[in-house]
Amino acid sequence: MERTLIRHAHVVSLDAAVGDLRDAEILIEGDAIAAIGHDLGVTDAAAIDARGAIAIPGFVDTHRHTWEAVLRGIEADATLADYFDVVLDTLAPKYRPDDVHAGNLLGALDALDGGITTLLDWSHISNTPEHSDEAIRALRDAGLRAVYCCGTPNTSVATWWTDSAQPAQDDVRRIRAEQLSDDSGLITMSLAARGPGFCLPEVVAHDWRLARELAIPISVHVGFGPAVHRFEMVKRLHEQRLLGPDTTYIHGNLCDDEELRLIADSGGTTSIAPTVEMLMGHGLPPAARMLAHGLRPSLSIDVVTGSPGDMFSQMRTLLATERALVHDRLLRAEEGRLHDDSPPQAPLLSARQVLEFATIEGARACGLDRRIGTLTPGKQADVVLIATDRPNTWPVIDPVATVVCSADTGNVETILVAGRVVKRDGRLVRDDWTQVRDAATAASARLLPHASGCTAHAH
Ligand SMILES: [Zn+2]
Repeated sequence: MERTLIRHAHVVSLDAAVGDLRDAEILIEGDAIAAIGHDLGVTDAAAIDARGAIAIPGFVDTHRHTWEAVLRGIEADATLADYFDVVLDTLAPKYRPDDVHAGNLLGALDALDGGITTLLDWSHISNTPEHSDEAIRALRDAGLRAVYCCGTPNTSVATWWTDSAQPAQDDVRRIRAEQLSDDSGLITMSLAARGPGFCLPEVVAHDWRLARELAIPISVHVGFGPAVHRFEMVKRLHEQRLLGPDTTYIHGNLCDDEELRLIADSGGTTSIAPTVEMLMGHGLPPAARMLAHGLRPSLSIDVVTGSPGDMFSQMRTLLATERALVHDRLLRAEEGRLHDDSPPQAPLLSARQVLEFATIEGARACGLDRRIGTLTPGKQADVVLIATDRPNTWPVIDPVATVVCSADTGNVETILVAGRVVKRDGRLVRDDWTQVRDAATAASARLLPHASGCTAHAH
C-alpha cells in the first residue's frame, strides 16, 4: 500500500478530538488518513515537506451548475430573471454533449485548483442520456471527489421550470444502475429535484419517491427571489409529507421561521451560495437565522456566470454580509431606528464557523461526513496544503484567520484526493490543460451567438 507522510504542517483538523497541531505530521496509507501527530516515526513513506503550510480538509462545494463554466462571466450584472432567460431558456437547450463535457471538466478543475476536493454537480443539463454521460465522464476525468446530482433536461423553462408536468426521467434509473451504483466510489449520485411551484404536486411526489426508491439523496432550491419565494416550497413539501434527513435545501434566504424550523425538525441540511445570492437578488444572508434554528449551513458556488468559482470568496462574502446585518441593527438601535422586539445584539459569525461550513458541513450535506470533511484518522485523505510564505499570508498568527481572511487560490500549493496528489508545487498534476482550455473555448464560441438576441444580454 502506498504511504505518504506530510511533514511540518500546521494542521487545522476541524476534528475536536484531533484539534489543531503546530509542526505536525499526517500519515496517509492508500486512500485514507492513518495517523496525525508529532514525530510519527515513519521513515518508509514518500514525504511531502509542508513547512510553512497549513493543512486543512478539502473544501466541499454542495451545489454548482458545473456545465455553465464555459459561460464564465457572461452575466456579471444579471438578476435572477436575466439568468433564467439567457442561461436556462436560451443557451441550455443549445448544449451538445461535448459542450457539457467541456463545461464540467473546466468547472471541476476550477473547483479542484482552488482546494475544493468534493463537488456536488447540480446537473440540470440532462437534455439527452449522452449529455448526462458526458457530465459524469468529465467529473471522472477531473480526478476530484464528486456527487453527480442528476437533474432534468433544460430544453425550455416553460416545460421544466413552470408548473412542470414532466417528472424526472427514467434515465435516472439507468444512471444509478449502470454508472453510479457504488456509494463508496469517488463519484456518487443524488437527485437534483425541482420541487413545488416549479412542478405540479404529483410530479414532486413522483420525483421524491424515485430518489428514495433508488436510495440517493435529494437536493432542491427553495425560498429565494420573489418569484420562487411565493411557492412556499418547504411548507408544500411538508404538506406532502416529503421532508426528510436525505434532503439538502439550497439558498433559503426568504424561508420564514416556520420553514427553517420544518427543515431542522426533519433533519435536513442546507446549502447557501453567498456571492451569487448577494449579487443576484435571492434575499438577505440566511446563515444566522439558520443557526438560530439549529441548522449549520454548508457553502456552495452555484454559478460562475457572474461570480467566482472558489471557496475563499464564499467564506469572505458570508462573513461580511452576515456581520453587516448585525452591525446595521446595532447602528439602528443606537439611533433609535430599530422598530422590532428582537434584541439588536446577535453573535457575530466567526472565521472558524465559516471554515467548518466550507468543509465538514458540506460533507454532512452530501451524506459523506463519515468519510470526509475533517482531518481524522480513518477518513479519506482529502487534504489541502495552503502555503503561507507569501506577501498575502505572512505572518501566520492565527492559522484559521490566515485561511479564511487572507489566503486565496494562489496559496493552494498541494492537494490530495483519496490519498492521490492531484496538485503539486501550485500546479494541477495533469498534462492536458491546453486541450481542456481549447474545448472550453470551442464550446463557448459555439454557444454564445445564440444569446445575442436576448435583451438581458447587454454585450
Ligand atoms: Zn443553483
